[in-house]
Amino acid sequence: MRVLSCDGVAKEAVDMLKEAGHEVIEAEPTPEELESFIGGFDAVIVRSKSKVTASVIDKGARLKVIARAGIGVDNIDVSKATDRGIPVVNAPTGSTNSVAELSLALMLALARNISWADRTMKEGRWEKKKLKGLEIDGKTLGLVGVGRIAQCLAAKAQALGMRTIGYDPYIPQEVASGAGVELKDLESVLRESDYISLHVVLTDETRGLIGEEQIAIMKPSACIINCSRGGVVDESVLFSALSEKRIRGAALDVFGKEPPVDSPLLKLENIILSPHIGASTKEGQNRAGTIVVEQVLMVLEGRKPQYLVNTELPGKWG
Ligand code: NAD
Repeated sequence: MRVLSCDGVAKEAVDMLKEAGHEVIEAEPTPEELESFIGGFDAVIVRSKSKVTASVIDKGARLKVIARAGIGVDNIDVSKATDRGIPVVNAPTGSTNSVAELSLALMLALARNISWADRTMKEGRWEKKKLKGLEIDGKTLGLVGVGRIAQCLAAKAQALGMRTIGYDPYIPQEVASGAGVELKDLESVLRESDYISLHVVLTDETRGLIGEEQIAIMKPSACIINCSRGGVVDESVLFSALSEKRIRGAALDVFGKEPPVDSPLLKLENIILSPHIGASTKEGQNRAGTIVVEQVLMVLEGRKPQYLVNTELPGKWG
Protein backbone atom coordinates (compact mmCIF):
# COMPACT_ATOMS: atom_id res chain seq x y z
CA MET A 1 0.00 0.00 0.00
CA ARG A 2 1.07 3.64 -0.46
CA VAL A 3 1.12 5.72 2.71
CA LEU A 4 1.48 9.51 2.83
CA SER A 5 3.20 10.62 6.03
CA CYS A 6 2.83 14.36 6.63
CA ASP A 7 4.18 16.95 9.06
CA GLY A 8 7.30 15.08 10.21
CA VAL A 9 5.84 11.95 11.82
CA ALA A 10 8.56 10.21 13.90
CA LYS A 11 11.17 8.19 11.98
CA GLU A 12 10.53 5.08 14.13
CA ALA A 13 6.91 5.17 12.98
CA VAL A 14 7.79 5.58 9.30
CA ASP A 15 10.26 2.68 9.60
CA MET A 16 7.51 0.44 11.04
CA LEU A 17 5.40 1.03 7.92
CA LYS A 18 8.33 0.30 5.61
CA GLU A 19 9.19 -2.87 7.54
CA ALA A 20 5.58 -4.00 7.07
CA GLY A 21 6.18 -3.73 3.30
CA HIS A 22 4.38 -0.45 2.57
CA GLU A 23 5.67 2.36 0.40
CA VAL A 24 5.91 5.57 2.44
CA ILE A 25 6.15 9.07 0.99
CA GLU A 26 7.09 11.73 3.55
CA ALA A 27 5.92 15.27 2.82
CA GLU A 28 5.07 18.67 4.27
CA PRO A 29 2.33 19.45 1.73
CA THR A 30 0.57 22.79 1.27
CA PRO A 31 -3.25 22.42 1.31
CA GLU A 32 -3.25 22.55 -2.53
CA GLU A 33 -0.52 19.89 -2.80
CA LEU A 34 -2.35 17.61 -0.38
CA GLU A 35 -5.52 17.85 -2.49
CA SER A 36 -3.62 17.27 -5.69
CA PHE A 37 -1.77 14.08 -4.70
CA ILE A 38 -3.98 12.43 -2.05
CA GLY A 39 -5.64 10.38 -4.83
CA GLY A 40 -2.52 8.20 -5.10
CA PHE A 41 -2.54 7.00 -1.47
CA ASP A 42 -4.22 4.26 0.57
CA ALA A 43 -3.45 5.88 3.92
CA VAL A 44 -2.56 9.33 5.19
CA ILE A 45 -0.95 10.18 8.53
CA VAL A 46 -0.93 13.77 9.80
CA ARG A 47 0.15 15.58 12.94
CA SER A 48 -1.57 18.93 13.62
CA LYS A 49 -0.47 21.00 10.59
CA SER A 50 -2.00 19.27 7.56
CA LYS A 51 -5.77 19.60 7.26
CA VAL A 52 -7.65 16.57 5.98
CA THR A 53 -10.67 18.53 4.78
CA ALA A 54 -13.85 17.27 3.10
CA SER A 55 -12.40 18.05 -0.32
CA VAL A 56 -9.14 16.21 0.47
CA ILE A 57 -11.24 13.20 1.51
CA ASP A 58 -13.34 13.51 -1.67
CA LYS A 59 -10.19 13.42 -3.78
CA GLY A 60 -8.73 10.51 -1.82
CA ALA A 61 -10.50 7.88 -3.86
CA ARG A 62 -8.19 5.07 -2.61
CA LEU A 63 -8.11 6.16 1.05
CA LYS A 64 -8.61 3.29 3.47
CA VAL A 65 -7.56 5.05 6.67
CA ILE A 66 -6.85 8.57 7.95
CA ALA A 67 -4.53 8.78 10.95
CA ARG A 68 -3.62 11.51 13.44
CA ALA A 69 -0.30 11.01 15.25
CA GLY A 70 -1.63 12.60 18.44
CA ILE A 71 -5.02 13.11 20.09
CA GLY A 72 -7.01 16.06 18.71
CA VAL A 73 -8.69 15.43 15.37
CA ASP A 74 -9.85 19.02 14.80
CA ASN A 75 -7.77 19.04 11.58
CA ILE A 76 -9.64 16.05 10.12
CA ASP A 77 -13.22 16.20 8.79
CA VAL A 78 -14.29 13.11 10.72
CA SER A 79 -17.95 13.23 9.66
CA LYS A 80 -16.95 13.34 5.98
CA ALA A 81 -14.62 10.38 6.57
CA THR A 82 -17.47 8.52 8.29
CA ASP A 83 -19.83 9.27 5.36
CA ARG A 84 -17.23 7.76 3.05
CA GLY A 85 -16.76 4.76 5.39
CA ILE A 86 -13.11 5.63 6.08
CA PRO A 87 -11.81 4.86 9.58
CA VAL A 88 -10.08 7.73 11.41
CA VAL A 89 -7.55 6.58 14.00
CA ASN A 90 -5.44 8.46 16.54
CA ALA A 91 -2.95 7.91 19.38
CA PRO A 92 -4.63 9.16 22.55
CA THR A 93 -2.04 7.72 24.93
CA GLY A 94 1.10 8.91 23.12
CA SER A 95 1.52 12.16 25.02
CA THR A 96 -0.01 11.18 28.37
CA ASN A 97 3.27 11.03 30.28
CA SER A 98 4.68 14.13 28.56
CA VAL A 99 1.68 16.25 29.60
CA ALA A 100 1.72 14.82 33.13
CA GLU A 101 5.44 15.67 33.44
CA LEU A 102 4.86 19.23 32.20
CA SER A 103 2.01 19.67 34.71
CA LEU A 104 4.32 18.45 37.48
CA ALA A 105 7.13 20.74 36.30
CA LEU A 106 4.78 23.73 36.33
CA MET A 107 3.55 22.82 39.81
CA LEU A 108 7.12 22.70 41.15
CA ALA A 109 7.98 25.93 39.32
CA LEU A 110 4.99 27.63 40.97
CA ALA A 111 5.86 26.21 44.41
CA ARG A 112 9.46 27.47 44.25
CA ASN A 113 8.94 30.62 42.10
CA ILE A 114 11.48 29.27 39.60
CA SER A 115 10.30 31.35 36.67
CA TRP A 116 10.43 34.56 38.71
CA ALA A 117 13.85 33.68 40.17
CA ASP A 118 15.28 33.06 36.71
CA ARG A 119 13.81 36.24 35.23
CA THR A 120 14.92 38.55 38.05
CA MET A 121 18.45 37.12 38.17
CA LYS A 122 18.84 37.72 34.45
CA GLU A 123 17.67 41.28 35.06
CA GLY A 124 20.56 41.63 37.55
CA ARG A 125 18.46 41.32 40.71
CA TRP A 126 19.15 39.05 43.71
CA GLU A 127 15.70 38.72 45.32
CA LYS A 128 16.47 35.90 47.73
CA LYS A 129 14.17 37.24 50.49
CA LYS A 130 11.17 37.64 48.18
CA LEU A 131 11.54 34.14 46.83
CA LYS A 132 10.59 32.04 49.83
CA GLY A 133 8.67 29.13 48.33
CA LEU A 134 6.52 26.26 49.52
CA GLU A 135 7.11 22.52 49.52
CA ILE A 136 4.65 20.32 47.66
CA ASP A 137 5.20 17.41 50.07
CA GLY A 138 2.08 17.04 52.24
CA LYS A 139 -0.02 19.35 50.04
CA THR A 140 -3.24 18.48 48.22
CA LEU A 141 -3.42 18.22 44.45
CA GLY A 142 -6.93 18.59 43.04
CA LEU A 143 -7.48 17.07 39.62
CA VAL A 144 -10.36 18.35 37.53
CA GLY A 145 -10.95 15.51 35.08
CA VAL A 146 -9.46 12.21 36.24
CA GLY A 147 -8.64 10.60 32.90
CA ARG A 148 -5.36 9.31 31.52
CA ILE A 149 -3.17 12.38 32.08
CA ALA A 150 -4.59 13.15 35.52
CA GLN A 151 -4.06 9.55 36.69
CA CYS A 152 -0.48 9.60 35.41
CA LEU A 153 0.14 12.92 37.22
CA ALA A 154 -1.51 11.58 40.38
CA ALA A 155 1.02 8.72 40.58
CA LYS A 156 3.93 11.16 40.30
CA ALA A 157 2.41 13.57 42.85
CA GLN A 158 1.76 10.74 45.32
CA ALA A 159 5.40 9.66 45.01
CA LEU A 160 6.33 13.22 46.06
CA GLY A 161 4.13 13.03 49.16
CA MET A 162 1.00 14.74 47.88
CA ARG A 163 -2.60 13.84 48.64
CA THR A 164 -4.60 13.53 45.42
CA ILE A 165 -8.31 14.29 45.12
CA GLY A 166 -10.36 14.79 41.98
CA TYR A 167 -13.62 15.75 40.32
CA ASP A 168 -14.88 13.70 37.38
CA PRO A 169 -18.56 12.81 37.09
CA TYR A 170 -17.90 10.18 34.42
CA ILE A 171 -15.06 8.08 35.75
CA PRO A 172 -15.94 4.90 37.68
CA GLN A 173 -15.18 5.12 41.41
CA GLU A 174 -12.96 2.01 41.24
CA VAL A 175 -10.79 3.50 38.48
CA ALA A 176 -10.19 6.65 40.55
CA SER A 177 -9.46 4.75 43.74
CA GLY A 178 -7.17 2.40 41.80
CA ALA A 179 -5.19 5.52 40.87
CA GLY A 180 -5.22 6.73 44.48
CA VAL A 181 -7.53 9.66 43.69
CA GLU A 182 -10.37 10.39 46.09
CA LEU A 183 -13.39 11.55 44.07
CA LYS A 184 -15.31 14.58 45.39
CA ASP A 185 -17.65 17.23 44.04
CA LEU A 186 -16.05 20.17 42.24
CA GLU A 187 -16.65 22.58 45.09
CA SER A 188 -14.85 20.34 47.62
CA VAL A 189 -11.92 19.80 45.25
CA LEU A 190 -11.54 23.56 44.73
CA ARG A 191 -11.90 24.31 48.43
CA GLU A 192 -9.43 21.67 49.67
CA SER A 193 -6.66 21.85 47.08
CA ASP A 194 -3.33 23.66 47.18
CA TYR A 195 -2.78 23.00 43.46
CA ILE A 196 -5.63 22.52 41.00
CA SER A 197 -4.62 20.87 37.76
CA LEU A 198 -7.12 20.77 34.89
CA HIS A 199 -7.30 17.65 32.71
CA VAL A 200 -10.73 17.67 31.09
CA VAL A 201 -11.49 17.55 27.40
CA LEU A 202 -13.06 20.74 26.04
CA THR A 203 -16.82 20.26 25.64
CA ASP A 204 -19.85 22.54 26.04
CA GLU A 205 -19.91 21.35 29.64
CA THR A 206 -16.27 22.09 30.44
CA ARG A 207 -15.97 25.42 28.58
CA GLY A 208 -15.59 28.07 31.31
CA LEU A 209 -15.77 25.37 34.02
CA ILE A 210 -13.38 27.46 36.12
CA GLY A 211 -14.92 30.92 36.37
CA GLU A 212 -15.62 33.59 38.99
CA GLU A 213 -17.62 31.37 41.34
CA GLN A 214 -15.07 28.55 41.24
CA ILE A 215 -12.03 30.78 41.81
CA ALA A 216 -13.82 32.41 44.75
CA ILE A 217 -13.94 29.02 46.51
CA MET A 218 -10.19 28.40 46.18
CA LYS A 219 -7.69 29.01 49.00
CA PRO A 220 -5.81 32.32 48.62
CA SER A 221 -2.62 30.23 48.62
CA ALA A 222 -3.83 27.95 45.80
CA CYS A 223 -2.47 27.75 42.26
CA ILE A 224 -4.19 26.66 39.03
CA ILE A 225 -2.37 24.67 36.35
CA ASN A 226 -3.96 24.26 32.95
CA CYS A 227 -2.41 21.85 30.46
CA SER A 228 -5.79 20.78 29.02
CA ARG A 229 -7.52 23.26 26.70
CA GLY A 230 -7.67 27.05 26.88
CA GLY A 231 -11.42 27.45 27.07
CA VAL A 232 -11.70 25.51 30.34
CA VAL A 233 -10.60 28.53 32.42
CA ASP A 234 -12.19 31.95 31.99
CA GLU A 235 -9.03 33.95 31.25
CA SER A 236 -10.46 37.35 32.16
CA VAL A 237 -11.64 36.06 35.55
CA LEU A 238 -8.24 34.45 36.09
CA PHE A 239 -6.53 37.73 35.20
CA SER A 240 -8.56 39.64 37.82
CA ALA A 241 -8.01 36.97 40.49
CA LEU A 242 -4.23 36.97 39.90
CA SER A 243 -3.97 40.78 39.70
CA GLU A 244 -5.87 41.12 42.96
CA LYS A 245 -3.81 38.26 44.51
CA ARG A 246 -7.00 36.35 45.34
CA ILE A 247 -5.06 33.18 44.47
CA ARG A 248 -1.30 32.64 44.64
CA GLY A 249 -0.51 31.79 41.05
CA ALA A 250 -1.29 30.00 37.81
CA ALA A 251 0.54 28.17 35.05
CA LEU A 252 -0.98 27.89 31.59
CA ASP A 253 0.17 25.81 28.63
CA VAL A 254 -3.03 26.37 26.65
CA PHE A 255 -5.06 29.47 25.79
CA GLY A 256 -8.45 30.42 24.40
CA LYS A 257 -6.64 32.02 21.47
CA GLU A 258 -3.22 30.64 20.51
CA PRO A 259 -0.83 32.37 20.46
CA PRO A 260 -2.37 34.66 23.12
CA VAL A 261 -1.09 37.86 21.49
CA ASP A 262 -2.02 40.98 23.51
CA SER A 263 -3.42 38.92 26.40
CA PRO A 264 -3.16 40.86 29.68
CA LEU A 265 -2.01 37.57 31.26
CA LEU A 266 1.38 38.11 29.57
CA LYS A 267 2.04 41.05 31.89
CA LEU A 268 1.44 39.29 35.23
CA GLU A 269 4.26 38.25 37.57
CA ASN A 270 2.36 35.45 39.30
CA ILE A 271 1.73 33.36 36.19
CA ILE A 272 3.94 30.96 34.24
CA LEU A 273 3.19 30.55 30.54
CA SER A 274 4.28 27.99 27.98
CA PRO A 275 3.31 27.82 24.29
CA HIS A 276 1.21 24.59 24.21
CA ILE A 277 4.22 22.31 24.64
CA GLY A 278 2.50 19.61 26.72
CA ALA A 279 2.94 16.91 24.09
CA SER A 280 6.18 18.29 22.67
CA THR A 281 8.76 15.78 23.79
CA LYS A 282 10.87 13.44 21.69
CA GLU A 283 9.49 10.43 23.54
CA GLY A 284 5.87 11.61 23.34
CA GLN A 285 6.06 12.22 19.62
CA ASN A 286 7.82 8.93 18.93
CA ARG A 287 5.12 7.15 20.95
CA ALA A 288 2.30 9.01 19.17
CA GLY A 289 3.84 8.02 15.80
CA THR A 290 4.36 4.36 16.62
CA ILE A 291 0.95 3.98 18.28
CA VAL A 292 -0.83 5.50 15.30
CA VAL A 293 1.13 3.37 12.84
CA GLU A 294 0.01 0.29 14.76
CA GLN A 295 -3.57 1.52 14.20
CA VAL A 296 -2.95 2.10 10.48
CA LEU A 297 -1.45 -1.38 10.11
CA MET A 298 -4.46 -2.93 11.87
CA VAL A 299 -6.85 -1.24 9.42
CA LEU A 300 -4.75 -2.10 6.35
CA GLU A 301 -4.64 -5.73 7.56
CA GLY A 302 -8.45 -5.78 7.97
CA ARG A 303 -8.44 -5.74 11.78
CA LYS A 304 -10.40 -3.36 14.03
CA PRO A 305 -8.06 -0.67 15.40
CA GLN A 306 -7.83 -0.05 19.13
CA TYR A 307 -8.12 3.74 18.80
CA LEU A 308 -10.91 4.31 16.31
CA VAL A 309 -12.23 7.90 16.40
CA ASN A 310 -15.38 7.43 14.29
CA THR A 311 -16.73 4.58 16.41
CA GLU A 312 -20.08 4.93 14.67
CA LEU A 313 -18.56 3.67 11.41
CA PRO A 314 -21.31 1.40 10.18
CA GLY A 315 -20.71 -2.34 10.13
CA LYS A 316 -17.04 -2.11 9.21
CA TRP A 317 -15.83 -4.83 11.53
CA GLY A 318 -19.17 -6.54 12.20
P1 NAD B 1 -9.10 11.60 28.97
O1 NAD B 1 -10.23 11.49 28.01
O2 NAD B 1 -8.36 10.37 29.37
O3 NAD B 1 -9.59 12.33 30.30
C1 NAD B 1 -10.51 13.38 30.31
C2 NAD B 1 -11.36 13.19 31.54
O4 NAD B 1 -12.24 14.32 31.65
C3 NAD B 1 -12.27 11.95 31.48
O5 NAD B 1 -12.01 11.10 32.58
C4 NAD B 1 -13.68 12.52 31.53
O6 NAD B 1 -14.58 11.70 32.27
C5 NAD B 1 -13.44 13.83 32.23
N1 NAD B 1 -14.53 14.78 32.04
C6 NAD B 1 -15.31 14.96 30.94
N2 NAD B 1 -16.22 15.93 31.19
C7 NAD B 1 -15.99 16.36 32.45
C8 NAD B 1 -16.58 17.34 33.27
N3 NAD B 1 -17.62 18.07 32.84
N4 NAD B 1 -16.09 17.53 34.51
C9 NAD B 1 -15.05 16.81 34.97
N5 NAD B 1 -14.44 15.83 34.25
C10 NAD B 1 -14.91 15.63 33.00
O7 NAD B 1 -8.13 12.69 28.32
P2 NAD B 1 -6.56 12.90 28.62
O8 NAD B 1 -5.78 12.10 27.65
O9 NAD B 1 -6.31 12.78 30.06
O10 NAD B 1 -6.44 14.44 28.16
C11 NAD B 1 -7.00 15.48 28.95
C12 NAD B 1 -6.86 16.81 28.27
O11 NAD B 1 -5.50 17.11 27.98
C13 NAD B 1 -7.58 16.95 26.92
O12 NAD B 1 -8.26 18.19 26.90
C14 NAD B 1 -6.50 17.04 25.93
O13 NAD B 1 -6.89 17.81 24.83
C15 NAD B 1 -5.43 17.75 26.73
N6 NAD B 1 -4.08 17.60 26.17
C16 NAD B 1 -3.26 18.68 26.18
C17 NAD B 1 -1.98 18.57 25.65
C18 NAD B 1 -1.04 19.75 25.66
O14 NAD B 1 -0.19 19.84 24.79
N7 NAD B 1 -1.11 20.62 26.64
C19 NAD B 1 -1.55 17.37 25.06
C20 NAD B 1 -2.40 16.28 25.11
C21 NAD B 1 -3.68 16.40 25.66
